[in-house]
Amino acid sequence: MLGAGPAALCIVAELVEKGLLVTALASHPPNKPWPNTYGIWAEELESLGLASLLGHRWTNTVSYFGDGIGEKGQVPTLHNFDYGLFDQTALQNSLLLRCGDLNWNVETAMEIRPVEMNTEVVCSSGNVYQARVVIDASGHRSRFIRRPNHGPVAQQAAYGVVGRFNFPPVEKEQFVLMDFRPDHLNKKQLREPPSFLYAMDFGEGLFFVEETSLACFPPMELTQLKERLHKRLSHRGVKIEEIIHEEHCLFPMNLPLPDRKQPLLAFGGSASMVHPASGYMVGALLRRAPTLANTLAEAILLEPALGSADIAKLGWNVLWDRELVQRHRLYQFGLRRLMSFDEHLLRSFFATFFRLPRKDWSSFLANTLPLPRLIVVMLKLFTISSWKVKIGMLFGAF
Ligand SMILES: Cc1cc2nc3c(=O)[nH]c(=O)nc-3n(C[C@H](O)[C@H](O)[C@H](O)COP(=O)(O)OP(=O)(O)OC[C@H]3O[C@@H](n4cnc5c(N)ncnc54)[C@H](O)[C@@H]3O)c2cc1C
Repeated sequence: MLGAGPAALCIVAELVEKGLLVTALASHPPNKPWPNTYGIWAEELESLGLASLLGHRWTNTVSYFGDGIGEKGQVPTLHNFDYGLFDQTALQNSLLLRCGDLNWNVETAMEIRPVEMNTEVVCSSGNVYQARVVIDASGHRSRFIRRPNHGPVAQQAAYGVVGRFNFPPVEKEQFVLMDFRPDHLNKKQLREPPSFLYAMDFGEGLFFVEETSLACFPPMELTQLKERLHKRLSHRGVKIEEIIHEEHCLFPMNLPLPDRKQPLLAFGGSASMVHPASGYMVGALLRRAPTLANTLAEAILLEPALGSADIAKLGWNVLWDRELVQRHRLYQFGLRRLMSFDEHLLRSFFATFFRLPRKDWSSFLANTLPLPRLIVVMLKLFTISSWKVKIGMLFGAF
């Protein structure tokens, strides 16, 4: 196993519980705090019985898709659905606890190669490890996982600040998923790729504000996002008084699916598990790890003759079964369309999307809709969209 991020810990915890002997290699100790804060809709965690892992939870959850002008342009879309942020330490510790007394080797993998029926990992220290199958959970930048080249990969970029402000940037106890109001932008900026504000009240005078670009190639520059964030805030009379933490975010949204014939398995960012429509993944890791671990345990414990290639094949087949591949393709198609939308069309699209029944939009974002239902929801969305959005969805906007 390579990695000690959320993906590695989720799958290692399951594998250890299934009685498998795991050798874990990660370039840092597994209890080193993760650099990112992870958000999730609360119901997704509740369905896994893990809601206690939330460090913050908001009931007042809104977005803004108006033009920001006049009273009508300022009306929020109410989500009426709780959103939360993981308590990072609690999530990490609860997964590590499930890994028992597993010894984590602080090692950086440099090369992975087949050796007879097994796989060998060569580390920068010179140490070499062998396993019946290797799972690469080293994130979306993995050098080891083969995937087809489908051209430029769109990235989500964001610049955020946790800090104190002269005036609350969002309402008390509020979470803002997407504030797309564009009234602070000039004509030139309105023609540039759109970005939105993701923001929340942490209480005790602390807020998080983040200017986010959904997905772009080339990715939006962090300096541009920072400039936009300041402009957006000052337009509303808000100034940052104290920066406690800055977040720089950049990760791929439509990384092609890995080649599922390779003898190396992957999980998490390296397995392209980020949801192409939302950029979220942690819920999927927690949901999909048990199934993958079951398959691997059966293969490894019950079939001693299977080699790395056979075990990896079984793993790929459950991790990316036909249904999940089809769903992923639909999401990627949707994202490509959205990337062609200007800010006006994008606002119109999202305003319509959140008019869908809550069960539909939330399951769409969590990727828990079975394929036929996903198609029905997408058709429903198409039906209730304006003709401009319909044309954009069919042919892309120009
Ligand atoms: C700023 C940011 C915010 C995000 N916010 C959210 C969110 O709110 N909700 C959500 O669901 N998703 C979010 N994501 C998306 C996704 O969940 C994260 O990218 C997540 O961290 C990916 O997990 P991972 O374990 O696959 O990879 P990583 O977290 O990148 O972990 C990779 C691990 O592999 C190790 N490693 C790398 N190379 C090697 C090597 N050669 N040998 C050994 N070890 C190696 C690293 O040290 C690390 O431990 C966010 C992503 C970013 C970048």
